[in-house]
Amino acid sequence: MVGRTGPQRGIRLAVQQNSSEAVGGLLWQERAACRGPLGSVFFPPPTSERKREKLAREQKAKNICLACPVMAQCREYSIAIREPHGVWGGLSEKERRVLL
Ligand code: SF4
Repeated sequence: MVGRTGPQRGIRLAVQQNSSEAVGGLLWQERAACRGPLGSVFFPPPTSERKREKLAREQKAKNICLACPVMAQCREYSIAIREPHGVWGGLSEKERRVLL
């Protein structure tokens, strides 16, 4: 998830910037479909969410990922840095954990 607004997005950007050298740069982020206000569905809300709400939110994020021109790069990056939070490259937190 790239280009998110709000505090959670700021955290993600900080992580990405700190890790960019290790993953070979992050120019792909400029083409991310999740830049801007759509980014709010990629992370859980600050308050709790029910399982059904979480699944619906994650599915919305994954649908955005499916139309994203940099999904492969994003997925590879999120796995490389072992990103623990949010939907990245069409994969939820739980789905990425299986791959690690
Ligand atoms: S694949 Fe999904 S999370 Fe990654 S940059 Fe594209 S829209 Fe954002």
